[in-house]
Amino acid sequence: MSLDLFDTHAHLHFPEFDEDREAMLDRARAAGVRRMLTIGTEPESSRAAVALAAREAEVWAAVGIHPHDAAEGDATALAEIERLAGEPRVVAVGEIGLDYFRNLSPPEDQERVFRALLGLARRLGKPVIVHCRDAHEDVLRILGEERAGEVGGIMHCFSGDVAIARRCLDLGLMISLAGPVTYPKPRALPDVARFVPADRLVIETDCPFLPPQGHRGQRNEPAFVAITAARVAELRSESPDVLAARLTANACALLGIP
Ligand SMILES: [Zn+2]
Ligand SMILES: [Zn+2]
Repeated sequence: MSLDLFDTHAHLHFPEFDEDREAMLDRARAAGVRRMLTIGTEPESSRAAVALAAREAEVWAAVGIHPHDAAEGDATALAEIERLAGEPRVVAVGEIGLDYFRNLSPPEDQERVFRALLGLARRLGKPVIVHCRDAHEDVLRILGEERAGEVGGIMHCFSGDVAIARRCLDLGLMISLAGPVTYPKPRALPDVARFVPADRLVIETDCPFLPPQGHRGQRNEPAFVAITAARVAELRSESPDVLAARLTANACALLGIP
């Protein structure tokens, strides 16, 4: 059986890939990546995500406003995300969330935009892609208050421990592991990789950011999700092809992708 990988969080439409996007997608296919979700971070990049998904059969889109961009998330921007969310091949709302590590937007703007787009996701019945950095208490509280469990979603690039993973699962979310699980100092991520039930786990690159071990300092790309998959399979004592098929099935079920 050949690998069947799904990169559930990539920014394939970002300018970092403008010079070699087709070659990058070919490398992804060659590595067994048959599906990718490209993620918008504000209205303009969400439009680019939708356009790329319309062109590439293996690419679907999510549209949203990243916490870094929340200060610009006015009524016009939110209305544009709502319009884009209705486009074909838009299968999720995101990325959205809170980032208190860099605080590039004021926390009150982050929370306002996060709540508004959780409300949009619930109205549309689409799952959410959640970004959380140094903000787990507030993110988990807001996800509960806004009843995100009704639509489900993915805690992307999960960075917490087993206790936080359990709370995410209790809220109805899936956990996505990215390149950091492959690092020599992976903190609690190996425990998390072993803890999450097989039907609640997915993987991602977050490319062009966060390359896995062996590619650190380089641009990340979807083909490298195979490295993360291999490490997670090793941690769970499973074969990579069986694990990949399982995680792909999870992502497809959540996102409504055949
Ligand atoms: Zn993110
Ligand atoms: Zn991202």
